[in-house]
Amino acid sequence: MSNDPIFINTGRSPAGWSFWGPAFSCDQLWFIKTVLGREFVNADALTQGTMGHIILGHHYARLGAAQPEGFVFEGKTYTDPEDFMDPEDALRRWVREIEKENGTDASPFIHNTLTLYRNYRVREPFFADRILGVEMLAKLTLGYDKEGNFGLWTDTNLETPTLLDCPGLEVPHPNVPQLQHGQPIIVTKRLDLIVRSSRNGQVYIDDHKVTGGSVGPTVAEKYAMDGQFSVNDWVGRQTWDNYGGVRLNLVQRRDPWSVSKQNVPPAPYRNRNFPRQLFRKAHHLAEMLVGTMSGELTQADWEQTQTDLLCYHRFGKCGAFDQCRLGGAA
Ligand code: SF4
Repeated sequence: MSNDPIFINTGRSPAGWSFWGPAFSCDQLWFIKTVLGREFVNADALTQGTMGHIILGHHYARLGAAQPEGFVFEGKTYTDPEDFMDPEDALRRWVREIEKENGTDASPFIHNTLTLYRNYRVREPFFADRILGVEMLAKLTLGYDKEGNFGLWTDTNLETPTLLDCPGLEVPHPNVPQLQHGQPIIVTKRLDLIVRSSRNGQVYIDDHKVTGGSVGPTVAEKYAMDGQFSVNDWVGRQTWDNYGGVRLNLVQRRDPWSVSKQNVPPAPYRNRNFPRQLFRKAHHLAEMLVGTMSGELTQADWEQTQTDLLCYHRFGKCGAFDQCRLGGAA
C-alpha cells in the first residue's frame, strides 16, 4: 500500500467534446463559449455531475485494484485498493480543491452525492466485468496511419499528422490554444470506465451520466448521434481487441436513486465521416478566428444557427438566447 493514496482528477480534457461539440451545433455558440469564455451549462448540475464522477472514479479504481490481476492506471499496475483514495474522502478533497481553485462552493452537494453513492452501492453490489481502466485520458490526432488511411489515430497508429493550414494563426488566440497554424489537430476524451464483459468478452467503455432527469430505457438512443461517442469508437477500436461500444451508466441523483445501464446504439456511418468533418470544422474555425483577431470580422459574423430546436432545447433556452435575439454585451 502507498502512504499517499492516489487522488484521481476527473476534470475536463483539453480538446474534448466540450471544446469541439458546440462548433458542430452553432458557430456563434462556439465563439461565445470558447473565445469569450462564457459558460452556459447550469453550474450546479455541472458541479454535481463532476462530484458523481469523482466518487465513482475512485470506487471503480479500488474495485479494479482488488481484482486478482489488479488493473493499470496511468501506465502502472495496481493490486491494492488502498493505493487509491477512499471515494468519500476523495469527494471531500475535490470540494476543498475546487473552492481554492475558482471559489466554487460545492459543499451543499456533498450530502446528496454521498447519498447517491451509498444508494449506488446498494443497487450495484456486484461487478462481474473485468476492469481494464478508469478515467483514462485518450488522445487522437487527425492524419494518416501506416497504411495511408485518413482518420483519427492514437499515437501508436499515427504515421503522419495532418497539420492545421491557416496562415495568420501562427500565434493562437489566447483562449484557443488548440488551433494553431502548422500544428496537429487533436481530440481528447476522458474515458470513465473500461471493462471486459464477463458475459461476452467484449470491451466496453462505460460513460457515467449523473442525472437529475429520467433514467428510462430509451435514454441511450438519444446519445447515439452524440459526437463524443465517435471519439470513443476511434479510440476503442484501436486500443482493445473485440471492442463492443459504449454503455451508459445512468445514475439518478435524486430519489429513487435509480441506476440503469444501457448500450448506446452504434453510428458507423457518422464515425467514418467524423475525421473529414473535424478537419473542415477546424479550418473553418481557424479562418474565422484569424478574421476576428485581425478585426476584419466581429461577433456578428459568426453564424447563428437560428433554429427553435437548438436555441430552445430540451433543457430550456440556450444561454445566449437573449443576446442572440437582441444584441448587446456577452
Ligand atoms: S441562441 Fe441559438 S443562435 Fe444563439 S448561440 Fe444559442 S444556439 Fe446559437
